[in-house]
Amino acid sequence: MYQRIVVKLGTSVLTGGTPHLNRPHMVELARQCKVLYEGGHDIIICSSGAIAAGRERLGFPDVTASVTTKQMLAAVGQSRLMLMWEQFFEIYGIDVGQILLTRADVESRGRYLNARETFRALLARRIVPIVNENDAVATDEIKVGDNDNLSALVAILVEADLLLLLTDQPGLFTADPRSNPDAELIPEVRHIDATLKALAGGSGTTLGVGGMATKLASADIARRAGIDVVIASGRAPNIINRLASGEAMGTKFPALETPLESRKQWILAGPKPTGTLYLDAGAVHALAGNGRSLLPAGIVRVSGEFQRGDTVALVADSADLRQEIARGIVRYSHDELAQLTGCQSAEIEARLGYTYGSVAVHRNDLILL
Ligand code: GLU
Repeated sequence: MYQRIVVKLGTSVLTGGTPHLNRPHMVELARQCKVLYEGGHDIIICSSGAIAAGRERLGFPDVTASVTTKQMLAAVGQSRLMLMWEQFFEIYGIDVGQILLTRADVESRGRYLNARETFRALLARRIVPIVNENDAVATDEIKVGDNDNLSALVAILVEADLLLLLTDQPGLFTADPRSNPDAELIPEVRHIDATLKALAGGSGTTLGVGGMATKLASADIARRAGIDVVIASGRAPNIINRLASGEAMGTKFPALETPLESRKQWILAGPKPTGTLYLDAGAVHALAGNGRSLLPAGIVRVSGEFQRGDTVALVADSADLRQEIARGIVRYSHDELAQLTGCQSAEIEARLGYTYGSVAVHRNDLILL
């Protein structure tokens, strides 16, 4: 049912509310991922717990909760956290790769594309990416802030179709279940209104950063990008597999549109094109007639100053047609494409000395006008 799944594991799931990372439970989560992995699903883990691992390693030092202290703890803990995941996935013969991100990596289009290519390369080799915020270097301005938000951005980046926000609560409730016995689980959310936001309240746990409020905000970002989201308990038996097969558990936020529609809307509504690619008749036919990507071979000339990741206009430049036919996100800068006009994709590396792949604008990144 779902092909590509981002599993966000909060500190509370990994520690079970204790000060220690719960290794047996981490192994169990890895085992659940293995079942999906073997079923052909792509799994991306967004794991918190670096700071908790750092505290544990240093014997729970009596330190202030300053930003620098947390960064120091994360620097100690991240490698330990990663070592654990590496060992636990190795039990099942699965390789993992670490990706540490900051806000800038997901917000600047150029770096966004670079990060996306890395995820693609890992997934293509069936390596499970394990993502966390780059806490050791990210201070407030460049911090995503919490891993709920980070996991939503990652889910968009990798074009996931399901995001699981696993936490210490079974889902979103009509009241705080810790203080109100009448609280009921909300199985599905289609409208996020002020009442719901008030219900979600503030941060819930002391070890992690997020709470229901950040989960709600993150679920909203992801569902708008065409991704189904479920908030559920990371300790419920076999939770990852049950949610991935569509079983109704926790609180589900169905996607509002398809991921492709959402990306295309972003291209139309996003930044104005900063450059133009003029295409020959063959390229126009490949794009408009056959739904293909744009290759450098079909570009006659380029104008404007654009960087990799910018939006550009694609203009037909033949005798019988001279108009903008599409708009898309370009994978090479104006400098690079100026050297690549008319070039066969196989020659890109020889001309530039490197390559970002065979296409100038991928068909998933362009919208025909
Ligand atoms: N990146 C932090 C860590 O690994 C956690 C952030 C969060 O819990 O949202 O410790």
